[in-house]
Amino acid sequence: MSDHASIAIDDCSDDDFSLSCPQCRRNDRIDISAQVWVRQTKDGTDINEAEDRSHEWDDESAVACRACGRIGKAKDFRLSSLA
Ligand SMILES: [Zn+2]
Repeated sequence: MSDHASIAIDDCSDDDFSLSCPQCRRNDRIDISAQVWVRQTKDGTDINEAEDRSHEWDDESAVACRACGRIGKAKDFRLSSLA
């Protein structure tokens, strides 16, 4: 569906894509530990049933690069902090 093989990294105004791995420099395998709503179900919880599917995270949120395994905080994955 997405055809973003080469994504220009400039002054990123799209905050959701502003993180890149400080180790391998990739930005397409970044997982962020965000705060989300989940619906209680008889089996536990289900994120897809929640009415509010917004997700919140900030500079202190845990971030993992699934390409190389680097783990840190979101602020450590900001390109601006690498300069
Ligand atoms: Zn990485």
